[in-house]
Amino acid sequence: MNNSSKKDRGLLVILSGFSGAGKGTVIRELMKRYDNYALSVSATTRKPRPGEQEGVSYFFKEEDEFLQMIQRGELLEYAKYVDHYYGTPAAYVDRNLDEGRDVILEIEIQGALKVKEKRPDAMMIFVTPPSAEELKKRLTGRGTETEEVIDARMRRAAEEAEGMEKYDYILVNDDLDTCVEQLHQLIRMQHMAASHQKAFIGEIQKELLALSYI
Ligand code: ADP
Ligand code: 5GP
Repeated sequence: MNNSSKKDRGLLVILSGFSGAGKGTVIRELMKRYDNYALSVSATTRKPRPGEQEGVSYFFKEEDEFLQMIQRGELLEYAKYVDHYYGTPAAYVDRNLDEGRDVILEIEIQGALKVKEKRPDAMMIFVTPPSAEELKKRLTGRGTETEEVIDARMRRAAEEAEGMEKYDYILVNDDLDTCVEQLHQLIRMQHMAASHQKAFIGEIQKELLALSYI
């Protein structure tokens, strides 16, 4: 018997990390290489940046629409981050988990901790570059922010680093290829956790009972 024949629910994977750590890059590459992942698209009240598309980057909402989503219980979590609301629509997450896909949430720490409270078996992964110097280099190299904004993001990173110990895993994004493979392997390993093998465990328990009464 092979436990891969019985499909369990997918895993909920939370990815957080400093702005500029490479989260977006790593997720894009992971999804290109493997097809069992679904990336959750958040709702936000912030305005789209040039090039961002409705329903792809975010679902862009007015504040009253966002508050209605909260009231209707449509969000798995939400948080206010630098003057704007961000939240995870629950329906997409649950549909994909039910279909056996591993769902990735790229969210900040307040939201991550709320998800962990509601779904204790969610994996919490924190992505970091190998050093602060490298973070500054990447933020500068991306060329999307002014020097002032880069300094603000570096200060914010120092605050965010305070929460790193709350995560289950720290993933160092030094060489991109290595990082993507480590992330994939980490998630594969987590599938072996007994808490994610309920279908298999139930099945083998039934089979053992049946055979032991022959
Ligand atoms: P985040 O989504 O965490 O804010 P991005 O994915 O936008 O970060 O990456 C920030 C910058 O760092 C981008 O210019 C990206 O090309 C670069 N980058 C990402 N991963 C690596 C890596 N492993 N090595 C070097 N540069 C990287
Ligand atoms: P940005 O405005 O740069 O796209 O995102 C700002 C921050 O909000 C990032 O740290 C990002 O991970 C986080 N974020 C994006 N979507 C969500 C969400 O649905 N919930 C929470 N809690 N944070 C989010």
